[in-house]
Amino acid sequence: MRWKRMEVTGWGRTRRVEVLACRPHRLSEIPSTLAALNGDGTSLIAHGAGRSYGDVATNEQGRVLLTERLNRILAFDEANLEVVCEPGVTFQDLLDVFGPRGILFPLSPGTAFTTMGGAVACDVHGKNQEHVGSFGDHVRWIDLALPTGRVVRTSRLEDPELFAATIGGLGLTGIILRVSIGLVRVPSLWSTVHERRMPHLDAFMDAFEACRRTASHSVGWIDGQARGESLGRGILETAEFADGPRSIPSPRRARSIPFDLPPGILNRLSIRAFNGLYYRRIRRRGRIREVPLAEHLYPLDSIHDWNRLYGRRGFHQFQCVIPDGAAREGIRTILGEVGAAPVTPFLGVLKSMGSEGIGHLSFPRKGFSLALDFPDRDETTALLSRLERITRDHGGRIYLAKDSILSPEAFREMYPRHGDFREVLQRVDPEGRLSSDLVRRIGLRP
Ligand SMILES: Cc1cc2nc3c(=O)[nH]c(=O)nc-3n(C[C@H](O)[C@H](O)[C@H](O)COP(=O)(O)OP(=O)(O)OC[C@H]3O[C@@H](n4cnc5c(N)ncnc54)[C@H](O)[C@@H]3O)c2cc1C
Repeated sequence: MRWKRMEVTGWGRTRRVEVLACRPHRLSEIPSTLAALNGDGTSLIAHGAGRSYGDVATNEQGRVLLTERLNRILAFDEANLEVVCEPGVTFQDLLDVFGPRGILFPLSPGTAFTTMGGAVACDVHGKNQEHVGSFGDHVRWIDLALPTGRVVRTSRLEDPELFAATIGGLGLTGIILRVSIGLVRVPSLWSTVHERRMPHLDAFMDAFEACRRTASHSVGWIDGQARGESLGRGILETAEFADGPRSIPSPRRARSIPFDLPPGILNRLSIRAFNGLYYRRIRRRGRIREVPLAEHLYPLDSIHDWNRLYGRRGFHQFQCVIPDGAAREGIRTILGEVGAAPVTPFLGVLKSMGSEGIGHLSFPRKGFSLALDFPDRDETTALLSRLERITRDHGGRIYLAKDSILSPEAFREMYPRHGDFREVLQRVDPEGRLSSDLVRRIGLRP
């Protein structure tokens, strides 16, 4: 395998690190690559599409294995609605191949560029987590190259503890070679989307609670700058698959941002003006539209490299989930803290979650999730630490795929199954050959 020195970063681009990288073309190259590294003292981590915001897929002064060329669909069993993929296959690939046949993944994160390896390793969730759970719930088995190079199959029946450690396991149990995923039939590739203005947080949460039972997809845009009586205002979007015969939507024309925006363009005033317009674009009585499914699932994918909007310093995404009983108060406190802070969030997303993921380190749990994007400024880290404190005080947890500042103590408190996870790591990787910047930052290994 050829190793090349290069720079890698997370989607937030707050830290760029130098690594030795390899880009295998065939799965068969991976076990021998792992075996060859044994004892050389360096650590390795897999890197999918780099859509995690922080440092789960970076490994400063270590090695990364880029999976983008391992993107073949290996088998499809239509009777059992089961697909077997290499780890670099993306949601977009599956949509292109199976969508026209009326078959789809049961859930998807908010970008179609996410790979299957990344989806398993972060146990990603979609806008229908309430109804279908998270990605790991639909994985039937995984072929994993352990850090020694030995390949094993793991599933709910075959070494279930290794399976639970691999789902949401941040790439630390081995390199995922093949994933078997259960698919679903869908009536069309169109969504009927209902958008409604929510004048404040209580209205938003009431409406979310009501639509949990009725809407199959739901997501809220929240104005992170609104204050006073309007605190927590936003737009609730619920959606169903449109029924009946429909055409295949034409592919979207993606635009790109060719350069980093100069600092200062996204400032308090410009964001406030944008949020006001965005809120009022929906009339008071709401609006119902039929849109291509991809437009509903992946609103940000139509602008490639949108992360450059935040300028060269990049940005952080804070995403927490707070259990039902404490969610209203927790989210109100977070929004109040954000309002008083010198850093202004640009994008805010509120979601409802239904159940715990099956992984030891799965993020989802029953409650409400709030995500806010903050440009990287001198004051941002201090603000994120305060949001971490509020999340802890309300019994919530922070999503590791998005995080860049979580402390070791907070990690242990938020992820009570970390002990089970470490036991599996101790068994499959006692020397810590697989590691990442996040592992060292949050003290994931003892
Ligand atoms: C616009 C946008 C919207 C998003 N929306 C959502 C959302 O709605 N829900 C959600 O859950 N997430 C969401 N995310 C986060 C994203 O889906 C996850 O971070 C996902 O893990 C990224 O996958 P990736 O292929 O980019 O992997 P990377 O970011 O490159 O890596 C993520 C993790 O996967 C591991 N990994 C990758 N390939 C392998 C492999 N072959 N073997 C072992 N480990 C591997 C890496 O080591 C790393 O730990 C969003 C991200 C963006 C940019």
